[in-house]
Amino acid sequence: MNWLTNLIRPKIRSIVGPKDVPDNLWQKCPSCEGMLFHRDLAENMNVCTHCGHHLKMSVTDRLNLLFDGAYKRIEVPSVPQDPLKFKDKKKYVDRLKDAQAKTGEKDAIIVAEGEIGGMPAVVAAFNFDFMGGSMGAAVGEGIVRAAETAVSKNAALIAIPASGGARMQEGMVSLIQLPRTVIAVRMVKDAGLPYIVLLTDPTTGGVSASFAMLGDIHMAEPGCLIGFAGKRVIEETIREQLPAGFQTAEYLRDHGMVDMVVARKDLKETIGRILNLLMNRTGSLNQKGNGSGIGAGKAGSAKSGLFAGKTAFAPHATVNQLTPANDPVDAAPTPIGVSKRAAKK
Ligand SMILES: [Zn+2]
Repeated sequence: MNWLTNLIRPKIRSIVGPKDVPDNLWQKCPSCEGMLFHRDLAENMNVCTHCGHHLKMSVTDRLNLLFDGAYKRIEVPSVPQDPLKFKDKKKYVDRLKDAQAKTGEKDAIIVAEGEIGGMPAVVAAFNFDFMGGSMGAAVGEGIVRAAETAVSKNAALIAIPASGGARMQEGMVSLIQLPRTVIAVRMVKDAGLPYIVLLTDPTTGGVSASFAMLGDIHMAEPGCLIGFAGKRVIEETIREQLPAGFQTAEYLRDHGMVDMVVARKDLKETIGRILNLLMNRTGSLNQKGNGSGIGAGKAGSAKSGLFAGKTAFAPHATVNQLTPANDPVDAAPTPIGVSKRAAKK
């Protein structure tokens, strides 16, 4: 340190006084480098107003965005902290304490129940701010509890991963969460309830190697990173250049791993519509007359249509039938596997 920083700067500070303007009024878009005013950014759901880049969103903002109104937090059972007494540069217990102080949460997952599009739903959302959303025993416990709640309440399960993968400080205990979460989402499927995964930035490592890639429907936010190992690691291993856009939501959609890429502003409406298509037993979607989806259009057709009766879940609804249609849809359900536009011709 020199005399400029040690002596002059404190003196100037003492004359000028403490700053009364916070530092974080402006944020730089990581994609286009445009400057974003914090209020504009919040109003636009953390999407860049210049280029549409989807910046990270806090987990509570996300829950507020998705649920119809109030939602109820579900307590995640507590787990033994630091089972391996792990220490690297810092003790794992200290890292946990820091993350808990920073986020005000016990661990990297939040489970909540409420309604989306009028349908009962349990959401298990990752908190990336908590140790990179890494999956240890507590997160595994959260997924299990979310699945159990969905089954007991006859609700859909919606997982929203945002994670760097397994929590290395928990070693084997962390890896055990892979089969545990797979079994948990299996319970939801066995109960005939929809399991939807909303992949957000980033979904990597052990999370993408377990429950996050087992959804009945995979949605992803535009441009988000989805993969197992990092791009550089793969390139060094196979000694080949990977194509542009590798491991992005759009690339995975084009190659069949993701069903749809949905802009943040359309997320709530899209999930609500899908839940109505998969779970609606009374045809209320049709009565609302919003003119999209199977059996929509003419009044009453949904009551005798594809989702009438006790069927809780229609896994044969294709993605074409679930994506927003630009043109009004005919009342007659389209044959399975045929897109609406193709069927009209
Ligand atoms: Zn931008």
